[in-house]
Amino acid sequence: MKKLALHWQIFIALFLAVALGLGLRWYIEDLLDGSELKIAADSVADIGKFMGKLFMSALKMVIVPLIFSSVIAGIAGLAGLDRLKQLGAKTVGFYMLTTLVAVIIGLVLVNTIEPGIKDGVGNIHIQKAFTDASEVKGTDDFLQGGKFSDTTLDGAKDWKNIFLRMFPPNIIHAATDNGQLLGLLVFALLFGIAITKFPRDEMRTVREFAEGFNAIMIKITQWIMALSPIGIFGLIFATVYNTGAEFILEMKTYMLTVILALGIHLFIALPLLLKFIGRVSPIAHFGAMKTALMTAFATASSSATLPVTMRCVQDNAGVSKKVASFTLPLGSTVNMDGTALYECVAVIFVAQVFGIEMSFSQQFFVVIAALLTSIGVAGIPSASMVAILVILKGAGIPNAELAAAGLLAVDRILDMCRTSVNVFGDSCAAVVIAKSEGEAVLEKSVVS
Ligand code: ASP
Repeated sequence: MKKLALHWQIFIALFLAVALGLGLRWYIEDLLDGSELKIAADSVADIGKFMGKLFMSALKMVIVPLIFSSVIAGIAGLAGLDRLKQLGAKTVGFYMLTTLVAVIIGLVLVNTIEPGIKDGVGNIHIQKAFTDASEVKGTDDFLQGGKFSDTTLDGAKDWKNIFLRMFPPNIIHAATDNGQLLGLLVFALLFGIAITKFPRDEMRTVREFAEGFNAIMIKITQWIMALSPIGIFGLIFATVYNTGAEFILEMKTYMLTVILALGIHLFIALPLLLKFIGRVSPIAHFGAMKTALMTAFATASSSATLPVTMRCVQDNAGVSKKVASFTLPLGSTVNMDGTALYECVAVIFVAQVFGIEMSFSQQFFVVIAALLTSIGVAGIPSASMVAILVILKGAGIPNAELAAAGLLAVDRILDMCRTSVNVFGDSCAAVVIAKSEGEAVLEKSVVS
């Protein structure tokens, strides 16, 4: 019997997870806390959470060796620094363009739909939740600052830290910290460039070692990907089961605004750029990226998805290792279209809720802050909440902490959506740049 393609397996896992999560939630809704059935249901959700965590950890396990070996192998294969400069300029240019487009879409939608305003004034129910901590549950960690490591916060707090993070004083330490991928990437780039400065023969062993090591990492990634339906099932099941419905209902217009804006960027803006700048078929590219998109959606982490993104872009879209290993690791840390868009919508939404009319220059500040902080935000779940807190404070909005905590209460689903946009944005850059380098991308039939 022919095996079901991986993306179908993941799709079925997603569907089952939502159905079972909702079903179980509905079943326990009227049960008392502490009743035996409720405890049993909670334990089932815990098993799902455990499976999801295991999958996330397995993906994270391969990130450091994968980035390291693929960047070194990719860069060492480039003929000289000029090629790298060219590649770098094109990549950064494309990243800036797409992030700017994303922020503008967010800005237009939040000002048109005005999700924070009800009957001409700031929505008082949401305002209450944003001023009374007991209204929003499950956000204590955030309020106490315990959810994020210092390095995760760093880049978002101050743009100067982005540069400091490029050169971590201790590379081993950087490799062990989730928020420090940028430093690792810069080190790997320097390592790769240094290889090209020696006579080819002298560095053959190092180059071959990097290539062999990279091939092994790819094999391990494929094994982890084969298990992704189980991991994704666990992640989504636990999320659906644990997310409260009441506050979500109040926040629905805000959530729909974010989702609509992300949808426009994902399904209209990026495909147009693919078509007119890259001259490739957007539909074929969506087909190539299916597995990565679903993984991003389930994990809400562009960093954890990176191994899968690299496989899809190379194996399905046909981008060379040289371009993929430069654009994607860089993109997963600095290019976050969905995050920038989200930050912009969220901050202006909070201002609307508090009845604060934002002037053009204040909105301009939010746009610039969203652009800069999205570069510093780590590719892990809910990381942009920290940036939002910083922007809210910068814009002088009262109750910034509680408002950010309120946003966090409904963040998971939005995080899943914006992470998919982040990952797709990176993959578009890889394809457009590969095409500009004369590579035959998306020309052969697309596999799973
Ligand atoms: N979860 C997002 C990502 O990994 C970052 C964020 O916006 O919180 O891309």
